[in-house]
Amino acid sequence: MANDDLFKKLISHTKEYGFIFPSSEIYDGLSAVYDYGQYGVELKNNIKKFWWDSMVLLHENIVGIDSAIFMHPRIWEASGHVGAFNDPLIDNKDSKKRYRVDVLIEDHIQKLEDKITKEVEKAAKRFGESFNEEMYKTTNPRVLEIQGEVDKVRTRLVDALKADNLEELKQIILDTELVCPISGTRNWTDVRQFNLMFDTKLGSVTDEANTIYLRPETAQGIFVNFLNVQKSGRMKIPFGIAQIGKAFRNEIVARQFIFRMREFEQMEMQFFIAPGTEMEWFKHWKELRMKWHKSLGLGDKKHRFHDHEKLAHYANAATDIEFEFPFGFKEVEGIHSRTDFDLGSHQKFSGKKITYFDPEKNESYVPYVIETSIGVDRMVLCVLSNAFTEEKITKEDGSVDERVVLKIPAALAPVKLAIFPLVKKDGLSEKAREIHNALRFEFNCQYEEKDTIGRRYRRQDAIGTPFCITIDHTTLEDDTVTLRYRDTMEQERIPVSKLREILSDKVSIRTLLQKLG
Ligand code: ATP
Repeated sequence: MANDDLFKKLISHTKEYGFIFPSSEIYDGLSAVYDYGQYGVELKNNIKKFWWDSMVLLHENIVGIDSAIFMHPRIWEASGHVGAFNDPLIDNKDSKKRYRVDVLIEDHIQKLEDKITKEVEKAAKRFGESFNEEMYKTTNPRVLEIQGEVDKVRTRLVDALKADNLEELKQIILDTELVCPISGTRNWTDVRQFNLMFDTKLGSVTDEANTIYLRPETAQGIFVNFLNVQKSGRMKIPFGIAQIGKAFRNEIVARQFIFRMREFEQMEMQFFIAPGTEMEWFKHWKELRMKWHKSLGLGDKKHRFHDHEKLAHYANAATDIEFEFPFGFKEVEGIHSRTDFDLGSHQKFSGKKITYFDPEKNESYVPYVIETSIGVDRMVLCVLSNAFTEEKITKEDGSVDERVVLKIPAALAPVKLAIFPLVKKDGLSEKAREIHNALRFEFNCQYEEKDTIGRRYRRQDAIGTPFCITIDHTTLEDDTVTLRYRDTMEQERIPVSKLREILSDKVSIRTLLQKLG
């Protein structure tokens, strides 16, 4: 199945099964804003817990905070967001559609790269086992021609972005003969810069009210609390402050479902270090964050680093962890060496001294920072897109059935255990309720007695429940139940007394944290 189809199916599945709804749907929705439903919020909370615990529980020198969304407007001048949080955009005069220029050009590059992949696939079929992909890519004239074009366009894009050269960005669009995907024309406006921050008014009388911004990142709430946390917690460098919270960006190109939203959630950790140690810590956090992603077992080849060619105004090194979504490899987390830019800048704008006295060095300095910044919603999308599976099952009588199953890592699954009495009578419901009552204080369990067991299994598969148990007449005799595994659909008979152990072993966040050591 084409990835596009798969992605569409995933989006409708998440709506049908209570994971993600378009915001304000009965009013025809609000572009790039989404609501999480009853299962979506559980998945999201589990992801947040895994991240939070991996930072705050596993590190003696990392603490968490929860700062307000509204902050003093000068903060966004100090951070550079008022001056530099811009995206270059262009409008198509016929369709009146607005695009981010870098996204338009990157889509063009992606199309060229897809062409190379197709050429290689065709050749692989033609040559069979003797096919040498590397050799083909470095010698085939057609592939080399396309690759040359990819390299040329990419270099021009990077140079133009680095230099903020808006004319050159427009020229690339003209030279590559890019057309608007809606109108199909090349009738473009000039390229302009557009600030991504939402603003609103603080105060009751509009005339006197101050313009303030909805934060476009959670990081600044950490920087402006650096002294508070360091002093009240008697923190010694190196130490980190972690935060999970909403962020808002007036994204121009809002698409790809929850990948790019206007209201989203971030999990950010700022690690404060001595100047001069940043490359060592940058490497350390790169490795640790990749380990966190890999511990979820989403697939060996699903992640990669993408080092930044154009560094943000605050960074002296930066990389993205990219995940292979159905629409290709895209950023899920950024790791940035932010130097002393933020604290230094807040010191300048606020007029307050923001330094740390290092007892070992016997000197004061403005600390350097390594930041790890990951989108909660993008993580939800990683997990869901990886989990979504359509399977054909051959039944005992030879007929073929289909199921859709979300193979979500058990520790992140919204519901951990579904409990089914085989029938409602003969005391089976009561026995099932008794088991439910014993486990529901520790695990998210769901009791279901309607429909056939087969149907109940399908519904749990569709929301990714890793375990189902069935209570039947034998249960009343020997206190055993049938445990059914989601991914293999295997079943085994186990004593009720073993359920708690099996569940804590397989579904608790602890199992993931232990992999991180
Ligand atoms: P992109 O290049 O995709 O716009 P970014 O480089 O601007 O992302 P950062 O500013 O580094 O992103 O933000 C850190 C993380 O926050 C990203 O890795 C991503 O997971 C998440 N994020 C950023 N913007 C959005 C958004 N509009 N919707 C959902 N998540 C987002």
